[in-house]
Amino acid sequence: MICDNITSTNGHLRFAGRDTVELAERYGTPLYLMDEGRIRHNCRVYRENMDRLFPAALPLYASKALSCKRLYEIVAEEGLGTDVVSPGELYLARSAGFPMEKVFFHGNAKTDADIAFAMDCGVGYFIIDNPDELQAVERLAGERGIRQKALLRLTPGIDPHTFEAVSTGQVDSKFGIPIETGQALPFVARALELPHVDVQGLHAHVGSQVFDSQVFDDTADIMLRFLGELREKLGYTAAMLNLGGGYGVRYTERDPVVDIAGELAHVADHIRRRCRELDLPMPAILMEPGRSIVADAGMTLYTVQSTKVIPGYRSYVSVDGGMTDNPRFALYRSAYTVYLANRMDEERDFVCTVGGRCCESGDVIQEDVALPAPRRGDVLAVCTTGAYNYSMASNYNSVPRPPIVMLDGERDYVAVRRETLRDLAAREA
Ligand SMILES: *Cc1c(COP(=O)(O)O)cnc(C)c1O
Repeated sequence: MICDNITSTNGHLRFAGRDTVELAERYGTPLYLMDEGRIRHNCRVYRENMDRLFPAALPLYASKALSCKRLYEIVAEEGLGTDVVSPGELYLARSAGFPMEKVFFHGNAKTDADIAFAMDCGVGYFIIDNPDELQAVERLAGERGIRQKALLRLTPGIDPHTFEAVSTGQVDSKFGIPIETGQALPFVARALELPHVDVQGLHAHVGSQVFDSQVFDDTADIMLRFLGELREKLGYTAAMLNLGGGYGVRYTERDPVVDIAGELAHVADHIRRRCRELDLPMPAILMEPGRSIVADAGMTLYTVQSTKVIPGYRSYVSVDGGMTDNPRFALYRSAYTVYLANRMDEERDFVCTVGGRCCESGDVIQEDVALPAPRRGDVLAVCTTGAYNYSMASNYNSVPRPPIVMLDGERDYVAVRRETLRDLAAREA
């Protein structure tokens, strides 16, 4: 199986030890399942290893992968901080009682209203993306008589060799200020002069679905060298260095398994060595995993509605969800592992494209999937959907969004209820 929280017994697919066919029947489909134990395990891998490997460290869960109140509660209980990118994510985190001092506020287009809201919530840190935002933070912090803690987002000039839409670390990026062009130094110098901005350090994020540990070594090298330059030229010693998120997860058998503990040990070693060479005190190291916290803790269940064989072309299987609950194939041609949850013991000899219910030819969940020839009413499971599925869901075609059901040992509970038809009309005049 693609992940060790997935098994099969008596022809039924089990997730987090639970019979998915029974869960589909009880809660209806489409249905997002989340394995609470796996979320906690993934949090602990970061927390425990970073605590052990660095003199000071904090993993931050990147909310954009999946943002809901229950998740913030779990992440807070596991001792992580969190990244938010909007007042919406911040509001959900606050509603869940997330400790505000451990919240980092990201974004390249924060409005004055966003900035004011975050300050009034008592957000711990702003991750300031550009000089316009820096000015706005200074002004709004001044009005409140506070000194806002902040990190400055820089682009290290690294191409992480992943899909273009999910890479952000190269010089040509809408995020951050590039080091290579000489713009980063005056940006930092300006920030250090401001009385209401307390610059705690720097931030860099190079991309997502990264499997190559060289990417983090290179990022650390560039950022540490720049920290050395800041100390030399500005007499500034940074307390924090945030290396971003991006460790890859396994969507199909073709993806490698990332040993996060091993990767962290490797990067910690590398940073320690570089700090010694540069004679720099080691800053507190922050990382921002999103996908690798929640992706393999998620599974989506659908019900098959039709099977269509087009001789000489291909076969389509249509399900009761689609790009509204998982737009990732439509956006990035993302790969997924698919099973027929109620017929796990049967031969998988029918190759098909799994399509969604939307009126859009691009509404595809996956191509070239081998399944036992599906019949109307079968339960179709798509694995590793915990990240960037619910958080990217839409109401296209006025389709209500599925619920999130958490699985925790013998217990299961609704963390987010299913959207209703009434919800769809709720904001209309
Ligand atoms: C998207 C993003 C992350 C999380 O990336 P994952 O690939 O989900 O781990 C972290 N930091 C920043 C700034 C991001 O944009």
